[in-house]
Amino acid sequence: QKAAGAMLRIDELLRSEPGVKAPPSPAQLPAPRGEIRFEHVRFAYPSRPEAVVLDDFSLHVKPGETVALVGPSGAGKSSVFRLLLRYYDFTEGRIELDGVDIRACDPGAVRTRLSLVAQDAALFSGSAADNIRFGREGATDEEVRAAAAKAQALGFIDALPQGFDTPLGERAKSLSGGQKQRLSIARALVRDAPVLLLDEATSALDAENERLVQAALGEAMRDHTTLVIAHRLATVLKADRIVVMEAGRVVDVGTHDELVARGGLYQRLASLQFET
Ligand code: ATP
Repeated sequence: QKAAGAMLRIDELLRSEPGVKAPPSPAQLPAPRGEIRFEHVRFAYPSRPEAVVLDDFSLHVKPGETVALVGPSGAGKSSVFRLLLRYYDFTEGRIELDGVDIRACDPGAVRTRLSLVAQDAALFSGSAADNIRFGREGATDEEVRAAAAKAQALGFIDALPQGFDTPLGERAKSLSGGQKQRLSIARALVRDAPVLLLDEATSALDAENERLVQAALGEAMRDHTTLVIAHRLATVLKADRIVVMEAGRVVDVGTHDELVARGGLYQRLASLQFET
């Protein structure tokens, strides 16, 4: 009875149709540069059409640039990621990736150019190698190792009883918070996508893990166009530009020093929110 019930659910999942579909003849993306452009985007979640989450949102991120998104809870920072990832369709405006309107492309093709490090990435009970390779199935052992090295994860993985082949337990429960974060950064890096979307974890880490995670993020940002939802001072200081969001709009743009000097929302956020 239980198995039959579970099978029904699996069948339902296999039959489900994605809400965001590819157009009949999708546009091709050019060679990847990692350029992102939001133009006057307006968006409300389908479940709450009256609540506008992004309102006239515009942002241009140049290839290789690191842009930090900061703003109070509910400002719409995660929604920016979700639209770029094509999890939802938006009603007005335009989003371009490498100069092409993402609505004209196959959502799958758009996603191969993006690499997401979520706040709490889902890690699995497989080995360290399995967990990293989840980022890109075809990655070779060398590529998995190189990604782990960049993510400052090589030290602790090599120290595990069977190295990369060590089973990590359900949800990788045998690892510490900082190790899990570095493993999810390695998973994102193995994808070799030009754009990195980072939702920085808010969980507090000890000083050594914090240093290693920051080093991993620094490495990751170096070779990618990076959009980061930042919660730490060390991260905003690495950004080329900081975009301050409030109620779905961009209210200010600048470097940390410029924004602090101007006072206003950023200065208040910086003094209240950033963990140092
Ligand atoms: P936080 O820092 O708390 O994560 P955020 O700036 O990332 O906040 P979003 O998650 O983008 O904010 O949310 C913006 C607004 O959209 C909020 O008012 C939120 O309640 C609403 N929202 C988010 N997800 C959904 C959803 N799936 N359906 C309906 N409304 C949503």
